[in-house]
Amino acid sequence: MKKIAIYGKGGIGKSTTVSNVAAALAAMGLTVMQIGCDPKADSTRNLTGGVPIPTVLDTLREKGDAELSDLVLKGACGVLCVEAGGPVPGMGCAGRGIITAFEKLAELNAYKIFKPDVVLYDVLGDVVCGGFAMPIRGGYADEVCIVTSGEMMSLYAAANIAQAVKSFGQRGYATLRGLILNAKNFDNEQELVAKAAGEIGVPVLYRLPRDPLIQQAEALGKTVVEAFPASPLAAHYRQLARLWAEDPDGGECSCPL
Ligand code: SF4
Repeated sequence: MKKIAIYGKGGIGKSTTVSNVAAALAAMGLTVMQIGCDPKADSTRNLTGGVPIPTVLDTLREKGDAELSDLVLKGACGVLCVEAGGPVPGMGCAGRGIITAFEKLAELNAYKIFKPDVVLYDVLGDVVCGGFAMPIRGGYADEVCIVTSGEMMSLYAAANIAQAVKSFGQRGYATLRGLILNAKNFDNEQELVAKAAGEIGVPVLYRLPRDPLIQQAEALGKTVVEAFPASPLAAHYRQLARLWAEDPDGGECSCPL
């Protein structure tokens, strides 16, 4: 099972990227679980026809407990969708919600029952407190990728996330694999991101072009991979999916790609 945490500043296109890659991996025949780790709980929206799914925290609050079928819903292309959710606004700790969701999934044997080939954690990267760092601790994720544009705040968030991953890496937790440039198309963007990657000490793994098809697919409540499978952008997501499924150390990949 390959476990990848994808971080990035809010609004950078992280959930769009993760859900498209999840759909691409699932279309290739892999069992994929996508876990949204953001109180907004909209990570999997494009896999569920734009319809929000119940979050782990809401379900636990409302029912007092939960069955696996309450928390894991099958979305487009068969992607297994989970949303951790968050506390009541103004109350509680959002990071605690992530921890609670992970503990509940483990308690219900979600990984043993669904046997995912790939688990993608979609994590907000504006705050890298202990709670939001949870996916890179305790063996949850093996690798971390950071989605960024060339905007200053996005690169600032990327540097913070990288620092957190490196701190945990020293203790044998997840390793930082690289940056994904989600282009906003302004001057010198590639150079800015390449410079930031050099300073962090990781490669720019992929450049995703800016494309209005993303908004068109989202208006349909779908990923680009599902709505426009023959488009060049869908081909980019499939390419990124192959890259994420690869073993970064060059070893044999157990995935049938
Ligand atoms: S900063 Fe993190 S740990 Fe602190 S309350 Fe917010 S989510 Fe929780």
